[in-house]
Amino acid sequence: MANQEETNQEIKDQFPKSIENSGNILVVDDNPQNLRLLIAILSRHGYKVRPAPSGEIALKSAFSTLPELILLDIMMPEMDGYEVCQKLKDNELTKSIPVIFISAIDAIQDKVKAFEMGAVDYITKPFQAEEILARVNTHISLSRTQKMLEEEIKLRIVSEKALKTISLKYQNMAMQDYLTGVSNRRYFMKRAEEELSRAVRYNHPITFLMMDIDHFKNINDTYGHQAGDQILKNVATICMDAFRVNDLFGRIGGEEFAALLPETTFDDAKIVAERVRQNVEDFSLKTEGKQLACTISIGISSLTDKNYQTLDLLMKQADDALYLAKSSGRNCIR
Ligand SMILES: [Mg+2]
Repeated sequence: MANQEETNQEIKDQFPKSIENSGNILVVDDNPQNLRLLIAILSRHGYKVRPAPSGEIALKSAFSTLPELILLDIMMPEMDGYEVCQKLKDNELTKSIPVIFISAIDAIQDKVKAFEMGAVDYITKPFQAEEILARVNTHISLSRTQKMLEEEIKLRIVSEKALKTISLKYQNMAMQDYLTGVSNRRYFMKRAEEELSRAVRYNHPITFLMMDIDHFKNINDTYGHQAGDQILKNVATICMDAFRVNDLFGRIGGEEFAALLPETTFDDAKIVAERVRQNVEDFSLKTEGKQLACTISIGISSLTDKNYQTLDLLMKQADDALYLAKSSGRNCIR
């Protein structure tokens, strides 16, 4: 015992305590003398060390509290170091813990086998304290760096996802009317150009609807902008319900909405427009609060095969028809 204490003291004197090391190391060796020596070297240098005299105990200890590094003897009765290592590497929790094998066997095939098992290093007995410390230090800092990198990558993935969500939100914001959530003028016009040129190219029917809420200024002046905003939202919802998925619909001005109905003739569009007009009127009749009552006038223009039309022309014609609807009493279709 006195001998052991002397040895420990010698080791302590040889390696002054370093402050940085605080890693939690599991030392596995069936030889009590080796175990004591390794513990003395490492704990003197600030490492927290847990001894395990057998493979079984090593595994139990590793799973109960994950060590930062494992020094693992190969030659042990019952369960040898290779088997312990295999079990550690097979488990998701313990597979990334660096394992350094310690063995008296200096055969090249044993070293190869150790690395194949997933060990990070191999130390041959009899070992030098300097070597143990140097390798333990190296692998602990490597493993810490790797963990930091992995965390960094995880964070980066999370922030990339967040960025994507934000950019998608901005894309939607660029296309949407902020109040009603339907397409804004810019996006509606862009899509309308595309749809119209397709209809022209294939000589398909397409119809434009220009819609305007009647006396909207009066509503705003009398009941306030909040009531006006609510009306705009209600009308947008009623229109969205009336149109089909492939129809384009957007708010293109203050109280002005437009729709472009592909594959729709003038007569079919009149039916849809009448439904919109009627639904707006019905909704108003059902509304108890008077400030939410309103009607809508609609102008319709259609692409005919006889005259080639641009979006500007189509819109101008619908606008003229809307003007007619307004001047002939409103709440109607022209
Ligand atoms: Mg042994």
